[in-house]
Amino acid sequence: MHENSSQVVRLEDYRPSDFLILQTRLTFRLAPDGATVRAELMFERRDGVEADTPLILDGDGLTLKRVELKGAGKMAYEASPDQLVLTGLPHEKHFQMLIETELDPDSNKALMGLYRSNGVYCTQCEPEGFRRITYFLDRPDILSTYHVRIEAPKATNPLLLSNGNRIANGTLDNSWHFAEWHDPHPKPSYLFALVAGDLGCLRDSFTTMSGREVELAIHVEHGKEKLGLYAMDALKRSMKWDEEEFGREYDLDIFNIVAVSDFNMGAMENKGLNIFNDKYVLADEATATDSDFANIEAIIAHEYFHNWTGNRITCRDWFQLCLKEGLTVYRDHEFCADQRSRGVKRISEVRALRALQFPEDQGPLAHPVRPRRYREINNFYTATIYEKGSEIVRMLRTILGAETFRAGMDLYFKRHDGQACTIEDFLKVFEDVSGRDLSQFSLWYNQSGTPNLALSESYAPGTLTLDIEQSISPTPAENHKRPMHIPLAFGLIGHDGKELDFLTAEGAVVENGLIHLQERHHRISLHGIKERPVLSLNRGFSAPVTLTIEQEPQDLIFLAGHDSDPFARWQAFHTLLSEALMAAYRLVLGGKQVEFQQDIVFLAGKIATDESLEPAYRALALTLPSETDIARDIGNDIDPDAIFNARNALAVQIAKANREAFSQTYAGLHDDAPFSPDADSAGRRALRNTMLGYLARLDDGLFLAQRHTKTATNMTDLIAGLGTLVHEYGATTQTQAALDDYAQRYATTPLALDKWFQVQATAPGPQALETISVLMKHPAFHIDNPNRVRALLGAFSTGNQTGFHRADGAAYAFFAQALLAIDKDNPQLSARLATAFRSWRALGPMRQEKARQALLVMVEASAVSVDLRDIVERTIG
Ligand code: ZN
Repeated sequence: MHENSSQVVRLEDYRPSDFLILQTRLTFRLAPDGATVRAELMFERRDGVEADTPLILDGDGLTLKRVELKGAGKMAYEASPDQLVLTGLPHEKHFQMLIETELDPDSNKALMGLYRSNGVYCTQCEPEGFRRITYFLDRPDILSTYHVRIEAPKATNPLLLSNGNRIANGTLDNSWHFAEWHDPHPKPSYLFALVAGDLGCLRDSFTTMSGREVELAIHVEHGKEKLGLYAMDALKRSMKWDEEEFGREYDLDIFNIVAVSDFNMGAMENKGLNIFNDKYVLADEATATDSDFANIEAIIAHEYFHNWTGNRITCRDWFQLCLKEGLTVYRDHEFCADQRSRGVKRISEVRALRALQFPEDQGPLAHPVRPRRYREINNFYTATIYEKGSEIVRMLRTILGAETFRAGMDLYFKRHDGQACTIEDFLKVFEDVSGRDLSQFSLWYNQSGTPNLALSESYAPGTLTLDIEQSISPTPAENHKRPMHIPLAFGLIGHDGKELDFLTAEGAVVENGLIHLQERHHRISLHGIKERPVLSLNRGFSAPVTLTIEQEPQDLIFLAGHDSDPFARWQAFHTLLSEALMAAYRLVLGGKQVEFQQDIVFLAGKIATDESLEPAYRALALTLPSETDIARDIGNDIDPDAIFNARNALAVQIAKANREAFSQTYAGLHDDAPFSPDADSAGRRALRNTMLGYLARLDDGLFLAQRHTKTATNMTDLIAGLGTLVHEYGATTQTQAALDDYAQRYATTPLALDKWFQVQATAPGPQALETISVLMKHPAFHIDNPNRVRALLGAFSTGNQTGFHRADGAAYAFFAQALLAIDKDNPQLSARLATAFRSWRALGPMRQEKARQALLVMVEASAVSVDLRDIVERTIG
C-alpha cells in the first residue's frame, strides 16, 4: 500500500534482525474522535551487532506524536509515515523506547490495523497490519511478550479484549474504564489483537486433557448469541480432537472468539482472541445453509489449530507462510473428515482444489507453495499456499505412513516450540524420524505448476505393464522442471469387483498400494494377475496431479460402480461426464445436435437410487462438472456460451431419461424431522436439492421449484429453490415474487441477503450485468463491506461464466471500474477480486482482447494500489 512496499522482497535476502523486542507494553486510548497508542518497547541489540547500527522500525501511514528513550539516554530519529529510523542509540545491550502514535480507526476502510466495524473496534495485523498501529519490527521472527492496556468510554465499549489473560480492570474519570491483558507466550506482532465495543456473549467451558478448565466465549452482536451455538460446539470438538489426534492441549485459561461484520478474510488466529468474519460464526437453520455450517466447523477448527501450528511455532518470514497455513489446512481437513464422511469430504476437497488451485497453478499467477519473491505479501494468501500446501502434508503422511508422520509431528512440536521456523525445519523432523532423504520431495514446495502423469497400460496374460511419464508445463519464471516424488495410490480390480493380488519385482517403487514415482519415466510390471484387471488410479487423490490416460468407457463405468475407493469411484463417473461434455462442446460449436450416450445417462439414475451409497456421495456424483471445470478440460480458445449449452443439454437429457427415478428419490428424501446440521441430514438435503436441479428442467419444473421454495423449512432448501427459480425461470413473475418475499423476510439479516445477491449475480446470461449494476444501488449493498462485495461482484466474476464473459466485453469493463472504486479503500479486496481474470488467456481471441483492454485500464489508472497493480501486471504477463 505504501510506497516502499512496491519493492520486490526476496527469500534469499533474509537476514535475522539486528535488534529484538523482548517486551511490548501497549496503551490504547480509544476516544470517539480518534485513538492514541503508546508503545513501550524493550529492545535488545543482538550480540555482534555494531553499537552505532541504526534501528529501523516499520510503519504504514502512521502519525508520530512522540518518541523517546526511557531513562536519561538520548538519540536521534527521522520519522516518516512508513518508517522510523533511530540513530545514536545507547550502547547498552538493552534499552527501552516510548513511541506514541495517533490513529483514526473510523476512517480505516482497508480493514488492516485498528479499525471499526459496526461500532466495534477491532484489529487485523496479519501479515503487516501491526505497523499501521505503531512503529515496530513488524516481522514474524520478532517474538515479544505483550502487556496491553485498553482505555475507552464504558457505555459504548463495555467489552475490552486483548490476547492472553485479563490481569486488571477498573473505572476511570469521565465514565471511561480500562482493562489490562497479559499474554505470557512470546508472539510475533501479526498475532496481536484488540477488540472493544458492546457485544453479546455466549459462554461455555472446556476441560483439557490435563484437567485444566478453559473459559470459552463467543462475542457477537446483541441478540445473536444463540447463532453462535454451532460454532461453540465446533470449538469444543476441535479442542478435543487436537488432544486426541496430535496430543495438543490449549495453553491459556480463556479462549475468546469475536465475530465482526467487516473482514477481508475468513478469520484470524490471534493468540487467545480469534477474530472472525461473522459469516463463519453465525448460523441457524433459518439463515445458514448446510455448507455454511460445514464452513463454520472447518474455520473454527482451522483457527483453533493454529494455536500450535502457527502460534506456538510460527513462520520465520512470510515466504514460509505455508508452514502454518498448509499444515493447518491439512489438520482442519482431517478434523472434518473425522467428524463427517471421510470419502465425501475428500471428494469435496479435490473439487475445491481443482476449481481454485489448479487454475492458479496453470496460469499467470502460478507460484511455488513456498514462493521466492513477492511484491505484496497480501497477494500470497492463495489456494496454492493453503490448499496445495495441505496436499503436500498429506503426501508426506502417505509416503511415511501414519505412525512415522505422527512421530515427526511430535518431534516438530518438541523441537520447535516457541520458535519461528522454515520449511526446512519442518521437513527435517520427518527426515530425522524416518531416516529418509526428503530433498526430492521438497520440490513440492519449491517448484510451481501442476504435474501431469501420462499413463498407458498393457496387459498380457498374468502381467500388467504401466508406462508412466511425469511432466510439468512451464510456469512464470520457471521453464525447466525437475522430476518430483509423486506417491500414486492405485489398485487392480477384478470382474467381480474385488481387489486383485499381484507380485512385483520393483522393490521399493511399488509398496502398500503406492507407486513412488521419482523419475521422469517409469515402466512398471505387475505379475501374477489372475485376469485382465481394471486399473483404479490416484486413489484418495494421493497426489495433486492431472492424469492423461485412455481408459475404456466400459472400464470407467465399471469403476464408477465398483471401486472401493470413494474418490476414485466418483472420479470415474466424472471422467465419463467430462469426456462427454467436451465432445458435446465441439458439437455445439459446430452447430450440431447434441446427444449423449445412453449408458452414462442411465448410470446417473442408478446412482441416484443406489441405497448402498451415502446421499451426500450421490449428490456429489450427480453434480455435473462446473462450467469452469469443463473450460479447464478444454484448455484453450474457450467459448463459455458453448460450454453452458453443452452442460445444459446433458442436464436436460439426464433429467428426461431419469424422471421417474429422480422424482421418487426427491419425494423419498422429504422428512418432517426437526432440523439438524449433521452430515447425514445435510447429505439428504443435498441429494434432494440436486434432484430438484434436474427435475426443474422438465415441463412442470417451474411449479416444482416454486413449491420447493414455498415449503422450505430451512435456508439450504430455500436457497436451492430460489436459485433454481432464478437460474431456470429468471424472467417469470413467480421468480420475482419469490425474490421479493425473500428480500422482505431477510431485510435486516445482511448475511442472508448476501445469498439473495449471489443467486441473482450468478443467473446465467448477458443480462446479469444489468442486474449487477442495479443491485449495486440496493440499500443493503455497501461497497466497503467485503462480504457484500464478494456476494455480488465476486460471485458474478467467478460464478457466472456466461454473464462475466459476455461476448461484447461489457462485463470486463464494468468489473474493472468497480475494482478501481473498491481499490481506493480496500486494496486487498480489489486485488483478490482481480484474480477472476487469471484464466483470460484460455478464452477465445475476441474475449481475450476485451479482457486485456480491461486489465490495461486498471494498470493505467492513476493511484492504483500496489496490491491491485501486482495482480494485474502478473496477469497480463
Ligand atoms: Zn490459517
